[in-house]
Amino acid sequence: MKITEVKVILTCPGRNYVLVKVMTDQPGLYGVGEGTINGSESIVAETLRHMSHLLIGRDPQRIEDTWQLLYRQGYWRGGPIFMTAIAAIDMALWDIKGKQAGLPVYQLLGGKAREGVLVYRHAFGRDFLECEDHVRHWLEQDYKVVRVQVGPYGGVGMIGEHPPLSPGTPPTGIYEATPYLLNVPKMFAHLRDKIGMEVELLHDVHEQLHPIEAARLAKELEPYRLFFLEDPLMPEHRESWPMLRGASTTPLAIGEIFSSRWDCLPLFMNKWIDFIRICPLHIGGITEARKILTMAEPFNVRSAFHGAADMGPIAQSASVSVQSVIPNFGVQEWTSYTEATHEVLPGACKVENGYALPNEVPGLGIDINEDAAAKYAYQRNFMPLVRRADGSMHVY
Ligand SMILES: [Mg+2]
Repeated sequence: MKITEVKVILTCPGRNYVLVKVMTDQPGLYGVGEGTINGSESIVAETLRHMSHLLIGRDPQRIEDTWQLLYRQGYWRGGPIFMTAIAAIDMALWDIKGKQAGLPVYQLLGGKAREGVLVYRHAFGRDFLECEDHVRHWLEQDYKVVRVQVGPYGGVGMIGEHPPLSPGTPPTGIYEATPYLLNVPKMFAHLRDKIGMEVELLHDVHEQLHPIEAARLAKELEPYRLFFLEDPLMPEHRESWPMLRGASTTPLAIGEIFSSRWDCLPLFMNKWIDFIRICPLHIGGITEARKILTMAEPFNVRSAFHGAADMGPIAQSASVSVQSVIPNFGVQEWTSYTEATHEVLPGACKVENGYALPNEVPGLGIDINEDAAAKYAYQRNFMPLVRRADGSMHVY
């Protein structure tokens, strides 16, 4: 079997998605993959077009060898753009293998280790009461784990917005740590008082704190029994993990912007974290995500795959496939999709009773409707910026 073409599709049915369709010389047999990276979609798309020249004529059945080829051919290895592009191809090759075998991808990975993948949803509000209402909204729909943020995106530390520095630049929030640090423990005190201790709640710091501030927050949140505290530090502050780890028994999670197993290993080996937030989409695909979770297993680190709205149904299905089979599973971040997204990418995984179910059809179970994708043009997009009240960039 041979790869005959790699179609790269950029589309925006509500969010930007980078999609690939790896075509083969077998009639009707192709694989779908996803290489979406928020704010840098067009860069991954160009990387995929470049990589496609290495793939034409190759045997799509050789997943590991293709992965090694794409990883090692560049000499300048790794980084989020390359690893996301590799992920798109890797997913498509697993999709082809599943279709060829007549089996869902999770069966190729060893079969189910659980009946469903526990997911968490996002609750937010302008004040504690709105947060409480939003948590209850998810609980009423049988979700069992909820992330809670108070205030605008980024939390109550966001105290306003700077005017754009020049036309076309992204929105720029004004962040100060003090209101954030004072409010988040009060929010969890409110939620635990009103909703009780049993419900699984978590919180995302979005890496906005200095290490000593993160340590204080983890300590002050200890009585509220968080499922985990997400991204309490920038990954760059690796030397501060022992201090943060020693400050409390609040479980810690990080890794959604990691693009390498080498980012993960010291955190595993030193037992500094409890949950790893990588996902197949940004770490190099199903192949690499599975390997990293195997590395995490003896260190008692569980998975909590990133799954925010910046990820489409193909990458989500890849995450559910891996998380269905690993023994050290924790939770899966979850998002739902616009009608237009379902039109472009039919077959998204379903959630029942708070658990995501892997697709039961051969491959990843998602298709790409190219005619529909063409209707929704890619929208150039940048991530929001954060500055301090004095106008300086928020450096933490
Ligand atoms: Mg996060």
